[in-house]
Amino acid sequence: MMFSKRDLGLLGFLGATALFFIFLVHGQTDNKLHVYFLDVGQGDAIFVQTPSGQQILIDGGPDNTVLQRLGEVMPFYDRSIDLVILTHPDADHLAGLNGVLERYEVAKILETGMACITSLCLEWEENKSREGGQVQTAFFGQEVETGDGAVLSVLYPFENSFDKNLSKKNNGSIVLKLLFGSQSVLFTGDIEKQTEDKLVLSGLDLDVDFLKVAHHGSKTSTTDEFLKAVSPLAAFIQAGAKNRYGHPTTEILERLENFGIKYYRTDTDGTIELVLDGENYLIK
Ligand SMILES: [Zn+2]
Repeated sequence: MMFSKRDLGLLGFLGATALFFIFLVHGQTDNKLHVYFLDVGQGDAIFVQTPSGQQILIDGGPDNTVLQRLGEVMPFYDRSIDLVILTHPDADHLAGLNGVLERYEVAKILETGMACITSLCLEWEENKSREGGQVQTAFFGQEVETGDGAVLSVLYPFENSFDKNLSKKNNGSIVLKLLFGSQSVLFTGDIEKQTEDKLVLSGLDLDVDFLKVAHHGSKTSTTDEFLKAVSPLAAFIQAGAKNRYGHPTTEILERLENFGIKYYRTDTDGTIELVLDGENYLIK
């Protein structure tokens, strides 16, 4: 087949356009796993991007700051998130997710399903039904496989808490373990000593490389026994600058230091990025 000069020009143009779109779709992926502990003030919001570019958001922080932060770590044209996880329905984890559901197309939601009648929860219920994505209740043993080597497993709650009215929602938080190659990260929501004890006693393999410190570094969590079992290389604390709860507490910071665990805090470090390639890591 012969091509005229004009055809070749057109082919070149089409090729360049295709390359441009491939760049748009894959421009942000680098075969590494990125975990961003977003600086959203006093609350949790963690954005995970897997090697193939799948996106997971764990909690949304206390307000719409999360939208600004997502804009900093996601491409501007990207208006969808594969999975949103709500560890428990307290405002400092849930409030920002209402804005997320309004702005982004969310394919799947994983949550505790705990009974919750605050106006915030009612808004969340409305947003979820408008979104129409798949909603799942989390409990022990569930796994999210992203097909690119990353696996997210639910370690807690041991039993489904759907419609349960827990006196302490913190202790019903979803606990997740992310595995990638030989590396692992533990996400603990706001669990306190009571749930930490249950996890340690369960005999589950809690030994990970990186720990999201539970409950913003409150002294009600992160016991010696729990740290002994988890023994992370580094820990991440999500708290707001000069928050009224005094999080993270000196007690917990000292405990981490005593265990020789290096820690990072969103209240002083801003958004922290953890990059994993399956063997090596980088924290920035
Ligand atoms: Zn919290």
